[in-house]
Amino acid sequence: MQALWLENQNLEFRGDVPIPIPKEDEALIRVRLAGLCSTDLELLRGYYPFSGIPGHEFVGEVVGCPNDSSWVGKRVVGEINIACGVCETCKSGLTRHCERRKTLGIHDWNGVFAEYLVLPLRNLRTVPDQIPDNLAVFTEPLAAAYEILEQNPVYPSDQVLIIGAGRLGQLVAQVLLETGCKLEVVARHPKQRELLTNRNIQTITEQDLGNKKYDVVIDASGSPDGFLWAMKSVRPRGKIILKSTYKGDLQVNFSEIVVNEVSLMGSRCGPFEPALRMLKENRVDPRPLIEAIYPLELGPIAFEHAAKPGVLKVLIQPGSFTIPYGSVGGQ
Ligand SMILES: [Zn+2]
Ligand SMILES: [Zn+2]
Repeated sequence: MQALWLENQNLEFRGDVPIPIPKEDEALIRVRLAGLCSTDLELLRGYYPFSGIPGHEFVGEVVGCPNDSSWVGKRVVGEINIACGVCETCKSGLTRHCERRKTLGIHDWNGVFAEYLVLPLRNLRTVPDQIPDNLAVFTEPLAAAYEILEQNPVYPSDQVLIIGAGRLGQLVAQVLLETGCKLEVVARHPKQRELLTNRNIQTITEQDLGNKKYDVVIDASGSPDGFLWAMKSVRPRGKIILKSTYKGDLQVNFSEIVVNEVSLMGSRCGPFEPALRMLKENRVDPRPLIEAIYPLELGPIAFEHAAKPGVLKVLIQPGSFTIPYGSVGGQ
């Protein structure tokens, strides 16, 4: 099959990768559409050791299932953490935190930038017919945005600040808007501001961050500066929620956290069900984020495009030879 192959910080298109073979309780899935996210770019930069097929955001169709043929033909999305099911963490219900987990396209499991992938059946969620592929492909990052609400109640009376209006920040903003909170988003690029303004979400710049204090600050900036801004902007007894991973270690003034009694919370993957429900009910619409769709053959160019500053969502479609949005390589 065709696939993108990552090895030693080099990404290439290959036409001769063996089609994976599903084991019992797994499904073979044909990829219909896949999404590129910052984690994929970080894998290419060598932030995490991984070789194989990258990619973890997808919508696909089950084409093979050894012991349950009722799955065949279903359109699905998939949870990215492949849990062992038997460790203490799994038994306590926290399968996304399994101690021995593998992660689709990130750790020890081949990903979705290919014609086919394999996932355990328990990871799959059927996509309702009302959700087209170009919306369903956002289920995983949208679920990650919902994780914030799964972890913390956000009240309509809360002043909430999101730092960063990139791929994830945009989705977090759409999700948080639903709570009725007083929301402001720090956005650097005109396109990011325009998309937020179109949804009646208030945008500000870093320069506007004066002495105003917020109840909840969410850092989706992907940069250590974002955390420093969050520290300056959170009120005493407020919460900082970290949605970004940073390369290397971060200098943190813990005394400030203690003195101001700030709660600090990390937040990663989230539940698929609310994401699918909100997509089905048209309560969020990430489609304006799509900047380009590339065929697998142009995968390396798709990665270059996605890495440009301010670029939002780049998609990869196996078997496609048209690029409906944008232009090759971006402007
Ligand atoms: Zn991702
Ligand atoms: Zn486990």
